[in-house]
Amino acid sequence: MPVSYIRITIFLVSLCACSSNFQMDEQERPNFIIIFADDMGYGDVGVYGHPTIRTPHLDRMAAEGLRFSQFYTGASVCTPSRAALLTGRLPVRNGLADDRIRVLFPPSKGGMPASEITIPEALQSVGYVSAAIGKWHLGHVPGHFPTEHGFDEYFGIPYSNDMTPSASDWGRAQTYPPLPLMRGTEVIESEPDQRLLTRRYTEESVSFIRKNRDNPFFLYLPHTMPHIPLFASDEFEGTSARGLYGDVIEEIDWSVGQILDVLRETGLDRKTLVIFTSDNGPWLTVGFAGGTAGLLRNGKGTTWEGGMRVPTIAWWPGTISTGHTTQALGVTMDLMPTMLELAGASLPDDRIYDGVDLTPVFRDPTAQVREAIYYYRGTQLWAARKGPWKVHYITQSAYVGDQPVVHESPLLYHLDRDPGERFNLAEQEPEVILEIQEMVEEHLAEVVRAPTQLAIPEWNE
Ligand code: MG
Repeated sequence: MPVSYIRITIFLVSLCACSSNFQMDEQERPNFIIIFADDMGYGDVGVYGHPTIRTPHLDRMAAEGLRFSQFYTGASVCTPSRAALLTGRLPVRNGLADDRIRVLFPPSKGGMPASEITIPEALQSVGYVSAAIGKWHLGHVPGHFPTEHGFDEYFGIPYSNDMTPSASDWGRAQTYPPLPLMRGTEVIESEPDQRLLTRRYTEESVSFIRKNRDNPFFLYLPHTMPHIPLFASDEFEGTSARGLYGDVIEEIDWSVGQILDVLRETGLDRKTLVIFTSDNGPWLTVGFAGGTAGLLRNGKGTTWEGGMRVPTIAWWPGTISTGHTTQALGVTMDLMPTMLELAGASLPDDRIYDGVDLTPVFRDPTAQVREAIYYYRGTQLWAARKGPWKVHYITQSAYVGDQPVVHESPLLYHLDRDPGERFNLAEQEPEVILEIQEMVEEHLAEVVRAPTQLAIPEWNE
């Protein structure tokens, strides 16, 4: 067993031994805000290296907080990625993994199973008020709305903004109903002006924060943008050197600034954890309308790094160390255990969680809390990472087009030396492949054993 693995194991065991939910009153419980961009790539932020997209607020957020360079999503497309974030569980466990259709569409009848426990449901027991403002995409029929999954309030578009009557513009065979804008479970507008969505979500968010300044809250802000079709308001359209995609990102950046400003103004900045991240990598096949994964390979819909490694910043003045970049591995499924730990709430013990508590990394950017990342596509595990090494069993080069390639001899990359996955080291390091294979077999055996695994997707028509 490698020394580094033993060290990590000892560290994790000692972490579990010391970790316990601490008691606190409502005044001490931190607020939580998750800002979730849609299809924004690893390379689309100034502080992540984009040369012409201006993101002064995200750059400042990183300077005042903690930037993750190796943070992942639970899936490479919208629906399962959102389910992973909100449940702390892999989509193969929470019922949102499917090999036939990979995201919900307007005709889909189901959604996230009621049996899943979401972050807001878990926070209710310790007095939190929660709002979802933006794109939901976990069910848009009765029984599956955000307010039926623990959120007290909802405002937004329940699925992707390209699922409209003009969907044929994007090569879709079906005609969809007008895009609904909802408040709670009611449709309040049909085909809303998408140029105003980022602004309206922001105004709703600021209002929710002000309204709840005296009690603990969780605000989940999944933006509709920069998913295609792209829209920016008049104030931003035509202003970015990157074109419309840049306008859209710069407006999301403005929105981040508005949120952080209201926290400072209300004095909530030192008691609010804000996370900025993205649901999956950039949609490369839409050309200029899609983002970039920077130096990472490929994008949305794939299990290459560009599909699932996303820009992620954590901000909490006075608590999270300032101005650091951490190389710690993290995944959106870690947010639920992290938030429950900080809120003094218990993680339910009747099911398996795939997330771990990130607070050691918040305190010390050199800490490591996980060494494995599992890259699923639908219900199949296509790749796995252990420490710096990643093995691919199956790959597919783009969201649509090329067919999956099953690698009889798995591909092996060293992501610390080769983040772009360019140099296959399988022939030089066969023992690493065997070591990862052992880890994968243990993981898959546990997934199959677990009583809540592989829920039949009730959302697939
Ligand atoms: Mg997405």
